[in-house]
Amino acid sequence: SRTIFSGIQPTGRLTLGNYLGALGRFVDLQHTARCVFCVVDLHALTVVHDPKELRRLTREIATLYLAAGLDPAVCVLTRQSDLPAHTELMYLLESTAYVGELSRMIQFKEKGRGRPRTRVSLYTYPVLMAADILLYGSTEVPVGDDQRQHVELARDLAIRFNRTYGPTFVVPELSPATVGARVMDLQNPTTKMSGSAPADSLGSIRLLDPPEVIVRKISRAVTDASPDVGYDPENRPGVSNLLEILAGCTGEADPAALAGKYDGYAALKRDTADAVVGVLKPLQNRYAELVADPAHVDATLRLGAERARELAAPTLAAARTAIGL
Ligand code: ATP
Ligand code: MG
Repeated sequence: SRTIFSGIQPTGRLTLGNYLGALGRFVDLQHTARCVFCVVDLHALTVVHDPKELRRLTREIATLYLAAGLDPAVCVLTRQSDLPAHTELMYLLESTAYVGELSRMIQFKEKGRGRPRTRVSLYTYPVLMAADILLYGSTEVPVGDDQRQHVELARDLAIRFNRTYGPTFVVPELSPATVGARVMDLQNPTTKMSGSAPADSLGSIRLLDPPEVIVRKISRAVTDASPDVGYDPENRPGVSNLLEILAGCTGEADPAALAGKYDGYAALKRDTADAVVGVLKPLQNRYAELVADPAHVDATLRLGAERARELAAPTLAAARTAIGL
């Protein structure tokens, strides 16, 4: 049977990239398999953070999970730090992983390697992510493109552990988005749209941006000198990103097919902004209701932690026994 795990870290305010690559897909997936969706707050400790802001963002993301339409009666919604099993399994997997393979992680190279004050946890974080995934016997991991290498590490560690100590973990598959797997920054369309971009960045659309801000950001999006609209991510990243966003928000499977409908950027930007606002408005309305009731969000996470603990316990026990504890 299928089990799906995914998480989002509270390092910044969620973006349209998080939605198209992850959260928006969770909403459809919850009805197709056993699902655990986690606010991975321990991952947020890998970079400079403010404790109060971390707590605030954690609750904000949990609230966004609910606002997006995740139903705690259908899927498990939980917070990573409520579950010591994640860090316990991490240690067993650290004793399975090699320094060499962690050194090859692109995200570590980009965010930390060679810089002063790089936290050890940034280096080992892919192992914690592997623990997150393997703990629930996950068969699929819906994530954006940037997480591909980390899911592959989780697979490698599961396979190695099973081979060395006997069958213990389900080997998960990456489940990449077909459209919107890598939403790019609107101002620097060769870098990915990121939650940790500065708060005033025009390049990141936040899920809670008011409609007029979304319209303004999209109308100022960088395109290129060619007057026609065409899909060519390699050579025309800005306009291709807009087509990708439009496709992702309208359910169109092929962004290239949308290009022919437009003979100029103005109409493309208008339709893209309309589509994004159309997708985010209902989420924002529900968020406004939910945020007035933080006790409900907290209760949801408490219930989720109980259920997650039950799901995780057998795997953790099996891994401990297999490794010789
Ligand atoms: P940071 O930039 O601090 O790493 P983030 O926005 O990447 O933050 P994560 O918690 O690392 O946030 O990612 C949560 C999920 O959103 C992951 O599945 C990730 O692959 C996906 N995701 C993040 N950014 C994008 C993007 N620009 N396009 C598509 N998916 C994305
Ligand atoms: Mg990330």
